[in-house]
Amino acid sequence: MRAAVLKEFGRPLVLVDVPPPSVSMRVGATGLCHGDLHVLTGQWSWDVQTRLPLVLGHEISVVDETGNTFLVYNAKGCGTCRECRSGFPQFCERVEVLGIQRNGGFAERVDVTGFPLVPVRGSPLEVAPLADAGVTAMSSVEGITEGSRVAVIGTGAVALLSIQLLKNLNSEVWVVGRNPLKLKKARELGADEIVFTKGEYSTDLSGSVGLRKFDFILDYVGSDFTLRDLPWLLRRMGELRVVGEFGGELSIPDQLLVLRGLRVRGILYGTMKNLVDVVKLFEDGKLKTLTVPYPLDEVNQAIMDLMEGRIVGRAVIYPTSSST
Ligand SMILES: [Zn+2]
Ligand SMILES: [Zn+2]
Repeated sequence: MRAAVLKEFGRPLVLVDVPPPSVSMRVGATGLCHGDLHVLTGQWSWDVQTRLPLVLGHEISVVDETGNTFLVYNAKGCGTCRECRSGFPQFCERVEVLGIQRNGGFAERVDVTGFPLVPVRGSPLEVAPLADAGVTAMSSVEGITEGSRVAVIGTGAVALLSIQLLKNLNSEVWVVGRNPLKLKKARELGADEIVFTKGEYSTDLSGSVGLRKFDFILDYVGSDFTLRDLPWLLRRMGELRVVGEFGGELSIPDQLLVLRGLRVRGILYGTMKNLVDVVKLFEDGKLKTLTVPYPLDEVNQAIMDLMEGRIVGRAVIYPTSSST
């Protein structure tokens, strides 16, 4: 079978023909995520054990013999630790993720043994982003109540899904970003206000919002640029959720944190329930996945396009043998 293999950190993926896994399912399509870039460049090596060679791709839809499509819930924990038993296998010490610790979806077939599958109605290409971006978006808006004022930092695939989820909740949504095309898309998806920034995220946001503050700020970038001074824009008892992993450092004055009762949380992926719920919203027509398709042989082009900010929505890689 055809597969895109990471052989050396920091190098393009290599397209090769390899024997398929002995137990496997046909890949419908696999989304390309910023997480793939972090793995590819070796930036996660301090916390994630990745052994090469490896087939990347962790946002996977698969198709069975009769043509039914499923999404892979991509976190397999030990099943017995506290995190696993409470439904958060992504935080298990022994978690395995396809495309990170085991071969993933940039191939014609993938071994999904032990990973829960969720059936979904829709083309494998269109639904793939629900498996990772969709779950993460769902997890990142969990508990946000109707009518909250929410700032969305960044305009990547997860942010664009979250904007739709927040509008379903009747939140007031402000979006801050650097890419005019993606901001325009955010507006089309229902964002109430969009703020263009050249990099001073909190300054530009505060210049637009004035004295009003946010119940929630969701940072889908997580860089030094985005995190700087963000907590100042939270109202009392407001919450900052950091979703993006661009390696920034957050600094909060103690008195701001304590006297205003602020909360800060990290969001990594989500639960099986998040996946089931996001599939339901998609099937009910309340969510667009905004896919940009690339055939498997062009995966390195997709990676370049993602790095250079040319993808509005989600790049989704499909093996040509199962193109839909
Ligand atoms: Zn991802
Ligand atoms: Zn566990």
